[in-house]
Order: sequence, then C-alpha cells, then structure tokens
Amino acid sequence: MAQRKRVLLFATKLGYQTQSFRGAADKLGVELTYVTDRCSHLDDPWNDHALPVHFELPESAAGRVLEAQRGLPVDGVLVVGDRPTVAASYVARGLGLPHNHPASVEACRSKLRAREVLRDAGVSGPWFLSVKLDPLPEPSLLGVRYPCVLKPLSLSASQGVVRVNNRDEFLAGAARLRRLLDSPEMRATREPHLDQMLVEGYLEGREVAVEALLTDGDLRVLAIFDKPDPLEGPYFEESIYVTPSRLAAGDQLAIEKSLISAVQALGLSHGSIHGEFRLNGEGVWPIEIAPRPIGGLCAQALRFTIPGEKDRIGLEELLLRHALALPGADAAREAEASGVMMIPVPHSGILEKVEGQQEASATPGISNLEITARLQDFIAAWPEGSSYLGFLFARETEPAEAEHALRVAHAKLRFTLSPRLPVEHPVSHKVSPAERAGSAQL
Ligand code: ADP
Repeated sequence: MAQRKRVLLFATKLGYQTQSFRGAADKLGVELTYVTDRCSHLDDPWNDHALPVHFELPESAAGRVLEAQRGLPVDGVLVVGDRPTVAASYVARGLGLPHNHPASVEACRSKLRAREVLRDAGVSGPWFLSVKLDPLPEPSLLGVRYPCVLKPLSLSASQGVVRVNNRDEFLAGAARLRRLLDSPEMRATREPHLDQMLVEGYLEGREVAVEALLTDGDLRVLAIFDKPDPLEGPYFEESIYVTPSRLAAGDQLAIEKSLISAVQALGLSHGSIHGEFRLNGEGVWPIEIAPRPIGGLCAQALRFTIPGEKDRIGLEELLLRHALALPGADAAREAEASGVMMIPVPHSGILEKVEGQQEASATPGISNLEITARLQDFIAAWPEGSSYLGFLFARETEPAEAEHALRVAHAKLRFTLSPRLPVEHPVSHKVSPAERAGSAQL
C-alpha cells in the first residue's frame, strides 16, 4: 500500500482554519502535522503532536522543525496567517519542496520592506517613509502630505492603521499607534519594528482583495473580492467581501497584471497569495501582498468545483491538493456569487449580549452565521482591535444579491457592548491581549 502523504501546516493559532485543513486532510487520506508557536514549554500540550516553535526566530524555528522531521517523509508545507510564513519557507527549502525564497517572504512581512521592493521594481505605490515613534515625530519636518496613512510595520487585519488628514490628526494618530505598539501584549509578540511606523500617501479609490495560487511562478487568480463598503478611514476595519467582482473585465485584468508585477518584484513563486489593491483613475495600486491564504473563517466564502465531482471543495482542500500535486488542484471557483461580512465592532466594550441570530440566519441567501466573539470578553474596536464579532456568509446567483442578503441579515443582529469599569486590582484580573490593547492606555 502506498504510504500516506504527509503535510506540515504552520499556524500561529489552532482554530477554524486549521480544523478545516484537518477535515480536508482526513478526506484525502493525508497526514497533517501542525507546527505552531502557541506554546513552547511542553512537548505535546494539546495531545495532537504539534511541533512547538518560535516563529519570530524563523531560522531557528526551521532548524528545530527540520531536526524533528529528520527521517520522516514530508510531502508538502502549508501555512496560515502571516507570522509563520518565513519559518515555513525555510523549512520547505530545507526539505527540497517547492517554496518561496525566504528573503521574498521576509520582505512581505515588513510593510516598509515590501514598499521598498515594489518601488525599486517600478510597481506603482504611494510615497512612503518609515518614522521612529519615540520621540513622537513632527510631521512638518518630515515633509508629509495629507491625507496619509500611519501603520505598524508588521501587524495585520488593519490593526493600528489610521488615516490622518492634518497635523493634529497626525500627532494624535502617531501617539495612539505608539501606545498600541508599546503595550506589554504587543511587546510579548516580539514582532520586530514596534518602535516605528510607516507613513504613506492615502490612495483614493475602490478596494478589492484577490486570492491567488502560484505554481512555480505561474499565477492563477482564484477569486477577486469586491469590497463594496467605502474604506475611507480613519480606521480600516473590513466589512463585506463579495465575489465574483462586478468590476469591468478590463479592471479585473489590470488587477491581475498588477498582482503579477508585484509578485514578480517580490520574488514570490509558489503557494497561496492574498493581495489587497486600490483602483482609481490612475490605475491599480497594491496595498499589500501576502504569501498566505485569506484568513480564518473568510476562506469559507470560497468553494471550488472539480469537473465530474458532485461535491464542491473548500479552499483548504484545494491548497492541500496543490501542495501535493494531486488532481483537482486546478479546480475553478463555483459559478454562484458568494459573500462574507466580517461583523464590525461598533465600539470597544464587554460583549454582554447578542440578539437576532435566528432571524439573521433565516434571511434568504444567508448560508451561515458564526459569532466568534465570546460573551463577557472585552472586544476592542479598531484601530486597536483586530478581531471581528463574527462572520456572516451569503450565497446567491448574483453578487448584488449576496451583498444585499448580508446587509439585511446584519441589520437583524444586535450586539450589546458595555463599557468596562475600572478594575481595582488589575493583577488579579486576567486580561486578554485584545482587552489590554483597547484598554485605558489608549
Ligand atoms: P494590514 O496588513 O494590517 O491589513 P494594510 O497595509 O493592508 O494593513 O492596510 C489595511 C487597510 O488600510 C487596507 O486594506 C486599506 O483599506 C487601508 N489602507 C492601507 N494603506 C492605505 C493607503 N496607502 N491608502 C488608502 N488606504 C490604505
């Protein structure tokens, strides 16, 4: 009997997406081993044989993984989330598997480095500069123009990203970002460059997200998601994604070309790509290119059809097939329109109550509702926050119908968030990183 194929899945947290990979791996008869940095003190704290590593030290993490895998067959390496991408590329390289060059992946991990690489390759982008946050910079000495965007160098989910329109907003935004990046929880992540921010010109225009797959340098667009809500700041919490895109074919082609130029400039060659772009009268502007799949539950919005097979497959199964060069890796997205709403956080507070879930779920066109925030947890709104209240999914014939279904269902949901009272003995009160990030320091 042929030996089962084995895949290493790099992930910061084990949640919905890793479970989906587990389900897809079981279906395909593939053995999946997690590599994670959730804990490095115990050998197998979750009893799932996950390999604990520190992703912020990618080369040593990779060395540890290669050491642990010596003599064991590994047929593929996959990654979810931004943090593990560099370590995963070193491991794939060490195992002789198709991989992105670690330097390319490293460039994507720093918004500053990515901007530099794209600029040097002639890919369109805004003006930008990196600035130390301590002491707070004086914008008139930096020659910034307004509006501009302040952002951390290596966070994700728009956390800490702020649009500012004048000097006062710049100073307030920079001070706010400094408090966020200087919080103990942020420091505990050991992300590099927490003492700096990137300042870049604000790009007007509509925004799209693109999901793509690279095979030895060849790029295949899996989906272009329109983001129909205006994302004009001051903060950039996501809301609705709908695919297929309603943009004109020429615009979609221009997006694909921009993605290909950016991917080539960065030197990426294999595996998942998630990109964000803005489009305006002057063309297509990459905002971010990440060598990983779309995050968390949003992947549920994508299903693919393998010719001759009745059941559709999810993104995770497609990625496993791709990593292992199994048939079906070239499956196209289903024909129906699909949408997801990342349910916005109206304001920071303790989540006391969620109402209207049944009514929202029963809305025509809604295929799923998942409330992911936990009752009694403190939920931070953007820019300090980075977690949504939940996710609504819609499937319809047309994208406009999917968008409508999401809006109607969302209007039926009611979230009660109460302000947090000051805690007298903070030491005895266990707070989550999100809570701290959104707490009195800000
Ligand atoms: P993250 O990786 O945290 O998501 P991004 O750099 O992708 O950070 O920015 C998050 C969001 O902020 C983008 O999706 C976009 O809506 C907005 N944004 C970021 N940079 C710009 C810019 N230069 N012009 C306009 N909007 C921007």
